Amino acid sequence: MKRSVNSLRFSIQSRRDSQSNELMELAKTYLTDFGLILDEEEPEFVISIGGDGTLLHAFHRHSHRLDQVAFVGIHTGHLGFYADWKPSELEKLVLSIAKNEFNIVEYPLLEVNVHTQSMETARYLALNEATVKSPDVTLVMDIELNGTPFERFRGDGLCISTPSGSTAYNKALGGAIIHPSIPALQLTEMASINNRVFRTVGSPLVLPAHHRCILRPVTEQKFTMTIDHKHLIQNDLTSITFNVASEKVRFARFRPFPFWERVHDSFVANE
Ligand code: NAP
Repeated sequence: MKRSVNSLRFSIQSRRDSQSNELMELAKTYLTDFGLILDEEEPEFVISIGGDGTLLHAFHRHSHRLDQVAFVGIHTGHLGFYADWKPSELEKLVLSIAKNEFNIVEYPLLEVNVHTQSMETARYLALNEATVKSPDVTLVMDIELNGTPFERFRGDGLCISTPSGSTAYNKALGGAIIHPSIPALQLTEMASINNRVFRTVGSPLVLPAHHRCILRPVTEQKFTMTIDHKHLIQNDLTSITFNVASEKVRFARFRPFPFWERVHDSFVANE
C-alpha cells in the first residue's frame, strides 16, 4: 500500500533520555520544516525514539486508532525489532518521509479478554505478549484450546505471545521465533511442575488465527497479568480468553529489512 505524505500529521514518542530527546527535537524541526504537522493526539505517523520498549508505549498510546496510524522506530541503544533505524540515519528517514512514499506492513496482534465474577469483561490488545502469574502461590489454571479441555497447568506462569513478540519474553522461555506474516499466537510455559502426579505438554504451542485459548483458574487466587509493559492485578477472575485480534499494527517501511536479517543481527551476529 502506498501513501502520499502531503500534510501528514505526525507525533514522536521518546524514551526521554537525553539522546532520544535531542533526536526528537531535531526530528520535529526537520519534519515541520517539510510541512508536516505535529499532532500528539491524532497522528497518522508515529516515530518512536528509544528502544522496542518505547515503541510498546507508543503502540498502547494509539491502540484505539490502529487503522489510522503507522509506526516507525529509531533505536538509541541496541538494534531493536520495532526500532530498526539508527540515530545517524535520522536525516535520511526524514527525507524519505517528506519526499517519498512509504510502504505499510501489517503485523498480527493478540486480543485478551479478561472475564471477572462481576460479569465485566475487559479487552486488551498486546503487541508483544500477555503473561499470567500468581504472585503468592503456584499458578494453577485449566487450559482449554478451541473449545476442548487440554491440560491443567501448575507452575510459575504462562506467556501468550504474538509473532512479533516471539523474539521477546517468549524467546527467553524457549518459544519458537515466528515470522510476523503468520497470524498466530504462541503459548509458552514458565517452569511447569511435571512429575508422576502432574503433567503438562511441556512444549510451546502455536495456535492459528481461528483458534482460541481459554485459561480458567482452578481455585480463587490473586493473579498478576502483564499486557506488554503494563501490569494488572486480578482478584475475581473467572476466565481469560486469548485469540489473534482482528486489528493489526501498521509499520511504515522505507527500505527492505527482512525479519530473519533482524533476528540474525540481534541474536547471532558477533559484533
Ligand atoms: P524492559 O525490561 O525494559 O525490556 C525488556 C527487553 O525486551 C528490552 O531489552 C527490550 O528491548 C526487549 N524487547 C521488547 N520487545 C521486544 C521484541 N519484540 N523483540 C525482542 N526484544 C524485545 O521492559 P519494557 O521496556 O517495559 O518492555 C516490556 C517487554 O519486556 C515485554 O513485552 C516482554 O516481552 C519483555 N520482557 C522480557 C523478559 C525476558 O526476556 N525474560 C522478561 C520480562 C519482560 P529495548 O531495550 O529495545 O527496549
